[in-house]
Amino acid sequence: MNYQIILEETLEKIMKDGLRPSLLLHACCGPCSSYVLEYLSDYFDITILYYNPNIYPEDEYLRRKNELKKFLSEFKLNQKIKIIEDNYNPIDYDQAVLGLEQLGEKSQRCYNCYALRMKKTCEYAKKYNYDYFTTTLSISPYKVSSWINEIGAILEKKYHVKYLYADFKKKNGYKRSLELSKEYHLYRQDYCGCKYSKEVQEKRA
Ligand code: SF4
Repeated sequence: MNYQIILEETLEKIMKDGLRPSLLLHACCGPCSSYVLEYLSDYFDITILYYNPNIYPEDEYLRRKNELKKFLSEFKLNQKIKIIEDNYNPIDYDQAVLGLEQLGEKSQRCYNCYALRMKKTCEYAKKYNYDYFTTTLSISPYKVSSWINEIGAILEKKYHVKYLYADFKKKNGYKRSLELSKEYHLYRQDYCGCKYSKEVQEKRA
């Protein structure tokens, strides 16, 4: 499945119909959001949801959130992007990955981690009547885009909110996020987020 083509078809239809739908975009950090915002802001009224109970420790969670806010205040777009923050509750993450802690990246642990954050996003989108929801997660080459889109499809069906299919790393999306991070002096973390990915990174260093 080519999710970039699906995205392009959706965007084309939106333009053709003269629509400007609302989009609730789950974001994990500034660097991952940069290109996605640049790409989608011509088509949607965007609100960001920062819900990432996987991030460890709390200082890192706050650092990524503040970096995202800083980027939003500096990046010139055709709209002001609102950011909603859900509570930082690492227990949500611990419960989602219970028994899977020792698995590596791109494992069932990560599937559950994506699903946790996307479910919250979809629930918010449903509650506050957004037209679409999606996540920046697929921009990372370290994440499994087919799983992210599979989860989006399941949630769309269950909650009746349109999921915006995407694989943001395509069309040089990841490369562009690196360029924007450099241009805006964004902090780029060297581990995915959870304590397990942090341990792996520390062993590598
Ligand atoms: S490695 Fe990343 S995606 Fe996987 S469980 Fe940890 S934080 Fe979540």
